[in-house]
Amino acid sequence: MSGFKNKLINFLSVFPIKFLFRPIYGGEGSILFFHKVVENKRSGERVSLMEANEIEVDFLEKIILYVRKNGYQIISLDEMSARLDNPGKGKSKFVVFTFDDGYIDNYTLAYPVFKKHQAPFTIYLTNCFPNRSAKIWWYMLEDILLEQEEISIRVRDELRNFRCKKPKEMETAFVAIRDLFINASPNDQLELIDQLAGKYNKSIMAYVEAEALSWNEIEKLSSDPLVTLAGHTMNHITLNKVNSEEALAEIMDSKVEIESKIQQEVFHFAYPFGTRNEVNEPEVALVAESGAFKTATTTRMGNIFKSHVSAKFALPRIQVLGSQQKLAILDLYLSGTLPAIKNKLKRVVTL
Ligand SMILES: [Zn+2]
Repeated sequence: MSGFKNKLINFLSVFPIKFLFRPIYGGEGSILFFHKVVENKRSGERVSLMEANEIEVDFLEKIILYVRKNGYQIISLDEMSARLDNPGKGKSKFVVFTFDDGYIDNYTLAYPVFKKHQAPFTIYLTNCFPNRSAKIWWYMLEDILLEQEEISIRVRDELRNFRCKKPKEMETAFVAIRDLFINASPNDQLELIDQLAGKYNKSIMAYVEAEALSWNEIEKLSSDPLVTLAGHTMNHITLNKVNSEEALAEIMDSKVEIESKIQQEVFHFAYPFGTRNEVNEPEVALVAESGAFKTATTTRMGNIFKSHVSAKFALPRIQVLGSQQKLAILDLYLSGTLPAIKNKLKRVVTL
């Protein structure tokens, strides 16, 4: 985290600003979102280039204990949806835990913690994870950069070299190559994956096996009423880059396949990526008009208010970043202080 951000957070935490924000910006509660859960890292042991994506399991448990100690109820998405419909229901503020994509550690590391504390949580599943067709190139790239001192990639006819000996160099190279991937067409992306895998002796398939939930694990999770399985499209596509038939098929095929595997209905959905670059009115209308879901969440930052009853398919969330594992920061989110600053004092965030 930058020095400025640290100072701002210290200032906001020490100064009673959050006590002013909480009644106005705290809302009814918050939907938190995470991706991967990792074992506790001893500091300095290993550089993590995907740190923002990863939360330590001890910190996850601390959050559960902290929110309960501070009077929040941990509820499921179903319960949250019911509360929006019936404003009299549930007096205390709530926290909903959600995990995106379907990483295997949601089962091996997160689930035992939620089970121990009898707390509900949701996994938004992208079907290409258990179907083993996802190309989890970001973790392959991380490994290559950690192992090599210098790498080269041919982009069109140009050979580009990246130094990756020191942590700072690794981070710079990671961001630059990640941008190459993100901006590449699907075919060019496959070519980049093949090129890196071939040159640095990696199997891209090994990453989905190592990182993604299997259908067998998903079925086991689904038998526990604490766990909600929800949709996140078949292939984690950018919904506004395809036509509406394709977008709807990505959303509905995913729901139907999960339902057939777990023998339960799927009522909730999260838009892949979920920022204003990927999700706007047309995508929200598509999900709302499908009539297939009770709620849908974005990655816009904000807490949940009673008036979100009229925007149940564009609910904002709060990302808990692995690079910000401090309860003081979490409290600045839950109290609405950081969302208020980020949203220029706008209270109810939808799109
Ligand atoms: Zn996702």
